[in-house]
Amino acid sequence: MLRQPLVAANWKMNGTLSENQGLISDIKSGLASDLSTEIVICPPYPYLPEIQRLLDGCGIQLGAQNVSEHESGAYTGEVSVSMLKDYGCTYVIVGHSERRNIYGESDHVVAEKFKMVVSCGMVPILCLGELLDEREAGITEEVVSRQLLEVINIAGIDSFENAVIAYEPVWAIGTGLTATPEQAEEVHAFIRLQLARHSDSIADRIKILYGGSVKADNAAELFSRADIDGGLIGGASLIATDFLTICQSTR
Ligand code: PEP
Repeated sequence: MLRQPLVAANWKMNGTLSENQGLISDIKSGLASDLSTEIVICPPYPYLPEIQRLLDGCGIQLGAQNVSEHESGAYTGEVSVSMLKDYGCTYVIVGHSERRNIYGESDHVVAEKFKMVVSCGMVPILCLGELLDEREAGITEEVVSRQLLEVINIAGIDSFENAVIAYEPVWAIGTGLTATPEQAEEVHAFIRLQLARHSDSIADRIKILYGGSVKADNAAELFSRADIDGGLIGGASLIATDFLTICQSTR
C-alpha cells in the first residue's frame, strides 16, 4: 500500500510572534511546489490564530500539541477540541511523551483525548514510545502495545480510520540519540501488526511516523523503511532549512 507521507512539526514551547513569522515565511518560500508530502505545523496554543492566518491557502495544515479530554466547563487552563477547530486545526498531537512523563497523563487520559479529537472531526497524532529503561529491559513491545490497546479499547478500532500514529522512543526525543532505521522499522512493523489483529485495512492504511532526533542528515534513511511514513519533528522543525530538507527526504 502506498501511503502519502506526512511530516509534522512539534514546536513545543518555543518561538515568539516575530520568530514564528520568519520561520513560516522561510518554510513557505522554500517548499517545493511539487512535493506530495503532507505537512503539519503544531505551534503553541496562543499562536494558533496567527499561524492559521500565515498558512492560509498554502496547503500546510495546522495542528495543536495537546487538548483537553473534556468538552467544556470548569477546567482552568485547558483548551477544548472545539476551540482548536475554531482556529483551523486539523491535527492534534495526543499522548506526547512530555505530556505523559512530565504532566502525568495516563494511558487512559490519552485514550480519552484521542476519542475527543476524533469525535470533533480532527486527526489525532497518537504518540507511543518506551523509556530507556523499558527498552533496556526488553519490554518495548509490551509498553507500546499497552499504550495502543488502551486507545483501541476506549475509542474503538474504527476511530483509527482517520488517525496517525507516531512512534517516539522517549530516549531519542531531544537527546540527539536516534533509533537506528532498523530499530524504528521493527517497532513500526510491530505497531502495524497489532492494528491488523483488529483491522487489516486500517493497519494497511494508517500512517506511522517516527519521532526522536530526526535531523536533516538522518531523515532520508529513516523514511526509506517500509513502515515509516514520515516524521514528527521537534528541534529540527525550528530551523527552516533543516525542516525543509526533512520534508524533501520523504520522496
Ligand atoms: C518530539 O518532540 O516529538 C520530538 C521528536 O523531538 P526531537 O525531534 O527534538 O527529538
